[in-house]
Amino acid sequence: MPMPLAEPSSPTPITPTPPPVRWQQLLADAVSSPAELCELLKLDPALIAPAIAASAQFPLRVPRSFVARMRQGDPYDPLLLQVLPMAPELQSVAGYVADPVGDMAARTGPGMLHKYQARALVVATGACAVHCRYCFRRHFPYDEESALGGGWQTTIEQLRRDPSITEIILSGGDPLSLSDRRLTQLTEALRDLPQVRRLRIHTRYPIVLPERIDAGLRRWLSGVSLQKVVVIHANHARELDVEVERACRDLADAGVTLLNQSVLLRGVNDSVDALAELSERLFAMHVLPYYLHMLDRVQGAAHFDVEEAGARSLYAGLLARLPGYLVPKLVREIAGEASKTPLV
Ligand SMILES: *Cc1c(COP(=O)(O)O)cnc(C)c1O
Ligand code: SF4
Repeated sequence: MPMPLAEPSSPTPITPTPPPVRWQQLLADAVSSPAELCELLKLDPALIAPAIAASAQFPLRVPRSFVARMRQGDPYDPLLLQVLPMAPELQSVAGYVADPVGDMAARTGPGMLHKYQARALVVATGACAVHCRYCFRRHFPYDEESALGGGWQTTIEQLRRDPSITEIILSGGDPLSLSDRRLTQLTEALRDLPQVRRLRIHTRYPIVLPERIDAGLRRWLSGVSLQKVVVIHANHARELDVEVERACRDLADAGVTLLNQSVLLRGVNDSVDALAELSERLFAMHVLPYYLHMLDRVQGAAHFDVEEAGARSLYAGLLARLPGYLVPKLVREIAGEASKTPLV
């Protein structure tokens, strides 16, 4: 008979940390070195020094599967331009500021922004799978302003105090950086708030790290009885490969309505052809174009800005070419307004 194993004399209670799942490994393995990115894409090494300088403000981060969708040897690749730190980011340009959309003025508590009627935006985490150089929250003080600071309790208490809120928008950062366990904690707690009807998630994961849409996430979503909307963020048709398509199909199968928002970016998608092709590809994946945002004038992103006159004529070009439901609304976010402001 085998000897029973000796019990430890003073058992130390430890919470086992679950081993990282595949998407977390892929996230940890993302490219963060400008030299490596240039080498992978066979780019001119002269791009490395300015990239290192600009990444001191906001580090480079891009998952490898997104890099694999870029063209080798092309410094103007529309996917590369979204992630490669560049010298113009370091120039300060009049009118481009740290908080262009008035986030801090809309703050109603830790990690909670309440700008628009009936919708509360929860800054769930500062972490993203990719660092988009034009991001309007690139200077957001995530360390002080994340809803998870004290668990979800503060968020839930604030929502309980304001029954006018019927839709929770998880944003960030990217809310799908949170583990399935964290997400489940939130939606379990939301069950106590019958006025909340909809859960909306703003995320780039289905595009830049589609492996995040895995069995665990699908299980979580399928169990959430709120109406579910996922707003993905693609800027160019070439971002949409078969794995992205698979992720979108799985989200739809879990009962999610899929929308896309893009940012109009100089050199990336500022042509009627690029925008029309993006809409067509999105619809082929059962995703409706929702917003085309004018760039928020955040410090470090001035070189991406498209002038309003140019944006209007692109929009007219889209209207002339596409069915109405494939033309996203062209909007600008103006601090203090009651909604996003349509340009047309
Ligand atoms: C953009 C935004 C929303 C959502 O606006 P919709 O027009 O409903 O998409 C909600 N809250 C904040 C703080 C926002 O910036
Ligand atoms: S994923 Fe969204 S929040 Fe994160 S850097 Fe890109 S635009 Fe900003």
